[in-house]
Amino acid sequence: MKVEIMYYDKKFNNKPTGYEVADVQKNLKKTTIEISELATALSQGATFKPALLNGTKSADWIQQQLFALDFDHDTTIDEQINKCAELKIYPCFGYTSFSHSEQEHHFRLVFCTDTVITDVETRNKLQNTLISIFNKSDNVTKDCTRIFFGGKSLICDSYNKRINAQQIIKKYYKALPLLKCDKSIEPKSCKKKLDLYSNTESNENMALKFEAIRALNVDVMKELLKGVPNKEDILPSSIRYPFKQTSFENEKDLYKYINSIDLSEYLGIDGYVNCILPEHEDDSPSAHIYTTDDGTQVYKCFGCNKCYTIIGITEKLAQCKKSQAIEFIKSVYNLKLEKSDWVKQQQQMLIDNANYLDSEEFDLQFPTLSKLIRTRKVHIQKMLLHFTQYVNDNMQNMERPIFFDSYKNLLSVCGIRQDSRKILSQSLTLFALLNMIEKLPVESIPEKELTKAKHIAAKYGFKKITNFYSFPEYGVLQFENSEEIAKTLKANNITLKGLSREYILRTFGTELANKCYPQYIHENSLGTTEKSDNATIKLSVKALETIEAQGYILEKDIKQKGLTEIQWKKSIQEILNTYGLIKIKASKDNKEKYNIADDISYQSSIIVKAI
Ligand SMILES: [Zn+2]
Repeated sequence: MKVEIMYYDKKFNNKPTGYEVADVQKNLKKTTIEISELATALSQGATFKPALLNGTKSADWIQQQLFALDFDHDTTIDEQINKCAELKIYPCFGYTSFSHSEQEHHFRLVFCTDTVITDVETRNKLQNTLISIFNKSDNVTKDCTRIFFGGKSLICDSYNKRINAQQIIKKYYKALPLLKCDKSIEPKSCKKKLDLYSNTESNENMALKFEAIRALNVDVMKELLKGVPNKEDILPSSIRYPFKQTSFENEKDLYKYINSIDLSEYLGIDGYVNCILPEHEDDSPSAHIYTTDDGTQVYKCFGCNKCYTIIGITEKLAQCKKSQAIEFIKSVYNLKLEKSDWVKQQQQMLIDNANYLDSEEFDLQFPTLSKLIRTRKVHIQKMLLHFTQYVNDNMQNMERPIFFDSYKNLLSVCGIRQDSRKILSQSLTLFALLNMIEKLPVESIPEKELTKAKHIAAKYGFKKITNFYSFPEYGVLQFENSEEIAKTLKANNITLKGLSREYILRTFGTELANKCYPQYIHENSLGTTEKSDNATIKLSVKALETIEAQGYILEKDIKQKGLTEIQWKKSIQEILNTYGLIKIKASKDNKEKYNIADDISYQSSIIVKAI
C-alpha cells in the first residue's frame, strides 16, 4: 500500500550534519510511496518526515498516516518488539539508525494507521499517546515536522500491520500538561509593540523574541526557541531544541547553514506581519519571510522595500555590528567554526598571494610578468580572496586546497559581465600559463567531487565538467619560469585574444598546453590539426626561401592578413625555434647589414637567421 509523506531519496552513509541537513530540509518533497519501498530506502540511508506538509512549519501540516517512534537510550530492539506484541500495537517496519551498535541500540519503529489522519488534533493525540505508552522512546517525535534520517538495516517488516488511532487514543490518551512559560523573562517594554500586530496568537512570542534579539540575550533567546505554549495545540511547534553543537570547517559552510535557519521561527512571525524594522511605521501587514533558490531565508517588506537575511535583520534589530550578530546567532544555535591549523595556514597563503601581486617586491623581481598581467591581476586577486572561505580539510590535492565554482559565480566574483565569459576564460588561461593558478586534471579531483561535477554537467547539458583549481604559493622560485614565459609572450606580441591552445602548444610544448587546457588532454593529444600543421610548414618554407634569397624577410610579408596572419601568430615561436631564426627591428644598422630598402620603416619587424 502507498502512503503520502515528505521524502528525500538521497542515501547517506552517515548521519547528515551541518550543510547536509540544510540540503535535506530543502529536498524533502511530497512523495507517494509503497511502504515496503520506503522501508528499504530508509534502511539504506534515505530520509523522511512521516507527515505530509506544505512547508517546514507545524502550521504546514496536511495529513499523516505513518507515525514513527525514536529509541536511542536504555532499551533494546527485542524489548520493544515484545512490548508491541504485548500491547498488540504492531509497527509495519523498523530500522536501526546510523548511531546503532550492538552495545547500544538506536532504532526507530514506524506505525501505520488504518485511515489517513487529516485532523491535527487527532495526529497530536495519537503521537503523544504512542510516546507515552512506549515510554523509552524519545519525545522529540511530538513535533510533526520532525525529520527522520535513515539508517543501516531493517529490523522488522510486517508491511500490512495497521493501528487504529481512535482505539489507541480512547484507551491510553492522557492530556499532557502545557509547557510553562517563564514569566520572569518577559520584558515590560514589549507591551506597546504587541498592539501593532494583528496575529494575536504569536504576539507574545514575537515580542519576547524581539526583546531577546535587541538585547542580544543568548540565554533568553535559547529559552524562547525551546517552545512557548501555544493554546490551540498541545504540541509546541519547535520542540527539537536545545540545539546540539554543530561544527563547521569553513566560513562558507557556516554561513550557508546560518542563512538556512528558519527565520519565521527565529523572529516568531508567521505569514504577513507589520514591518518589524524600527524605521518603518507600518500599519498594514506588508512583510513576510521567503526562501531563495539556494535555501537562504529572507525577511522582505513590500512597504519599505527592504530585504534582510537572519544576520542582517539581527544587525538591524539589535543595532549592532555584523560580527556581533553572527556571534549571537552562533551562540543561540550552538554553532562552532572549527578550523584546523592547515585550513588557517592555507587561507593565509591565499591572502598573502593576493597581496604579493600588489607588492613592490613583485614588480621589482618580475618586471615583465608584472606588466603583462597588469590589466587582469584583479581577477586572480578576487578569486584568491573568494576561495579563502572555501578552504576545507576534505578538499585537497597534494596538500593544497582545491576549489571549484561555476563560471557564473566566478564572473560575478571577478566583476566581469555575465555575457563576457571569454574575458574570464582568457584570464584563467593566462594565469595557468604563468603558473599562478593550476587547473586540475580530472585525475587529481577527489572521487566524490568529480561525481558531483559530472552530475551537474549532465544535468545542465554542459560538454565539459566544471574546472577545479588550486593555487601554488607565490614567490621567487614559483615565478622564475613565469617571467621567462612572460618575456616570450611579449616578444611574440601575443594579445590575450591570441592566446590559443595551439599557440601555447607550438610555443611552449605539450606539457604547458595541457596545464592550460587540462580537459583537452584526452580529446586530442596532438592538439594541432593536419590543416594547421600544413599551413605552418607553408609559412616556414616561404620564410626560409626568402631569407635564403635576400637575407631577411619582412614580418608583414609573411604574416599577411586573415587566416595566414592568425596561423602566423600561433606558429611564430615554433618556426623561429625550429629553424634558428630571430625577429628583430629594421633599425638603421640592420638595414645596412641586410641591405634593406630605405623606405622601410625602422619600426618594421624582420626575420633573419640567428647568428
Ligand atoms: Zn518595512
